[in-house]
Amino acid sequence: MTRPVISFEFFPPKTQEGIAKLRETRQQLTQWQPKFFSVTFGAGGSTRDRTMETVLEIQGEGHEAAPHISCISSSKEEIRQLLQNYRTKGIRRLVALRGDIPSGEVSAGDFRYANELVSFIRRETGDWFEIEVAAYPEFHPEAVSASADLQRFKAKVDAGANAAITQYFYNPDAYFQFMHQCETLGINVPIVPGIMPIYNFTQLSRFSSVCGADIPRWLRLRLQDYGDDMASLRAFGADVVTDLCEQLLAGGAPGLHFYTLNQAGIISSILQRLSLPKVAD
Ligand SMILES: Cc1cc2nc3c(=O)[nH]c(=O)nc-3n(C[C@H](O)[C@H](O)[C@H](O)COP(=O)(O)OP(=O)(O)OC[C@H]3O[C@@H](n4cnc5c(N)ncnc54)[C@H](O)[C@@H]3O)c2cc1C
Repeated sequence: MTRPVISFEFFPPKTQEGIAKLRETRQQLTQWQPKFFSVTFGAGGSTRDRTMETVLEIQGEGHEAAPHISCISSSKEEIRQLLQNYRTKGIRRLVALRGDIPSGEVSAGDFRYANELVSFIRRETGDWFEIEVAAYPEFHPEAVSASADLQRFKAKVDAGANAAITQYFYNPDAYFQFMHQCETLGINVPIVPGIMPIYNFTQLSRFSSVCGADIPRWLRLRLQDYGDDMASLRAFGADVVTDLCEQLLAGGAPGLHFYTLNQAGIISSILQRLSLPKVAD
């Protein structure tokens, strides 16, 4: 069996305590031999320095680190500087995004969509970076239609993306259907499912209402039943997510990308149960 590619996503911590906790989380997750750790980028560049610092710390520990870059509200010159900076530091992988449109009066910047960012990165830096982009098996909340969203995804791949990571979902059929449609359109880059462990129902509902990821009715109602009993909710959530991962891998998903929220415990218990072969197998 080929070992699925595992990767973990972090957000850049704000405090010394958060930095120390993330180091511990990373240490625990290293046992799963991830291909890379990625670090998110706040809308409009709000975490630019912290993303860079976190990425460099991960790289300094000997792991591959992939910064996310979002282009909305940025100028070409700002993105050019950022790319140069990462290139100088030896970073070889990026997660290239449009980013969520910031609220309030903010300049639109030089880029409207992620495909423009991918083209710009290729124009400026050739093949230096492996570029990952976002994919939406349940479709992006602003998409005018499912088919238009697929065409937009194709445009990012055609612009030079090497691979994609999906928004999270709990219905494996959404992923398999999406993969089938991608195949029909001739999109043949690896599309790795993004996996969101279930930590907290209120938080998950909030995320889902913003990003358009569906929490199926049966799951929502079961999670609601746990109320404040977080230990039982997490145990049940880990069962659900383990089952999802098993179905995805059995159905041919090339890997799993975990949205860690900077925590290792639930993810380790999920991965333990998946019994993945060692890297050398
Ligand atoms: C794996 C992953 C990681 C993420 N990391 C971050 C992060 O670090 N920081 C952050 O701020 N956000 C992050 N996000 C969220 C992401 O920025 C939002 O979902 C954002 O709203 C869309 O970004 P995108 O790159 O998918 O945009 P795009 O691919 O540009 O798509 C955005 C919308 O525009 C439509 N569209 C695309 N091109 C065109 C066009 N030419 N004409 C008309 N419509 C078009 C698409 O159909 C879609 O509805 C992440 C999402 C994922 C899945």
